[in-house]
Amino acid sequence: MTSLEAQLKQLRLTAILQTYQDTARQATQEGWPYETYLATLVQGEADRRQRNRRQRRIKEAHFPLRKELADFDFAALPHLNRQQVMTLAQGDYIARAEPVILLGNPGLGKTHIAIGLGLAACRQDHRVRFYPVTALINALQQAQEAHQLPRFLEKAQRHQLIILDELGYVPFSATGAQLLFQFCAALSERVACIVTTNLPFGEWVRVLGEERLTNALLDRLTFRSHILTFQGESYRFRYQQQHTS
Ligand code: ADP
Ligand code: MG
Repeated sequence: MTSLEAQLKQLRLTAILQTYQDTARQATQEGWPYETYLATLVQGEADRRQRNRRQRRIKEAHFPLRKELADFDFAALPHLNRQQVMTLAQGDYIARAEPVILLGNPGLGKTHIAIGLGLAACRQDHRVRFYPVTALINALQQAQEAHQLPRFLEKAQRHQLIILDELGYVPFSATGAQLLFQFCAALSERVACIVTTNLPFGEWVRVLGEERLTNALLDRLTFRSHILTFQGESYRFRYQQQHTS
C-alpha cells in the first residue's frame, strides 16, 4: 500500500481509495482539469457517506418489515387520499413535529403506510424509531423499574419521528397508560409521531382506562394532527379470495 493509500484509509476516505486510480486514468484520457478530478472523487465519497447514513437510519429505526409506499395499491382504498400520503412522505410534518394518525380496521395497510412513511423519513436523513405499542410500554416499564425513565424519555426526544404501531389492540394496565401518556407528553410538539390504531377516538377511554388521562392524550395527539382513515375490506382477505377462486 502506498502512503497515499494508507492516508486515505486512515482518513476513512474509502470511496476515494477505491476509485482514485480508475478516475485518474479516465481524467488523463479525457484531459480533465485537476479540479474536475478532485470534484469527482469528493462527490463519490459524499455519495457513499450519504448511502451509508441512510442505511444506518433505516437499521436504527427497527422496522419489523420493509414496506415501501411505492408498493402500496392505493386503488384498493378509494377513501384514502393518495395525495395526502405522498405529501406527508415529503416530510414537512416532521420538521413541524406534527402527529399523524392512521385509523381503521385491521388488514387495511396502516402499518404498511406507517413503515413507508418511516422509510421516506430515513431517506431524508431523519432519526426514526418504530415501536409496537406493547413493546414500547414494556420498555417504558423496564426503564421505570431501573430508575431510568428520564433517560429513556430524553433519548426518545433525540428522534425526529416516532412510530407507535397498533394502539388499542391490547388494553393497558393503569401504569402502562400512565407511562404512555408521559411518553407522548415528552414528545409532544418536539418529535413527530405516527400512530396506527383500530380504535375510533370515542373508544380510547375504554382501552386506556382513565378518562382524564385519555382526554389529555387525545388532546395532544390530535392537536395539529393529520388523520387518515382506512375503510374497506382487509387487503389480505381480498387478496386471498382473488387468488383462490
Ligand atoms: P393494518 O396495519 O391496517 O392491520 P397491514 O399494513 O399490516 O394492515 O397490512 C396487512 C398486509 O396487507 C401487509 O402485508 C400489507 O403490506 C398488505 N397491504 C394492505 N393493504 C395494502 C394495499 N393497499 N396495497 C398493498 N399491500 C397492502
Ligand atoms: Mg398494523
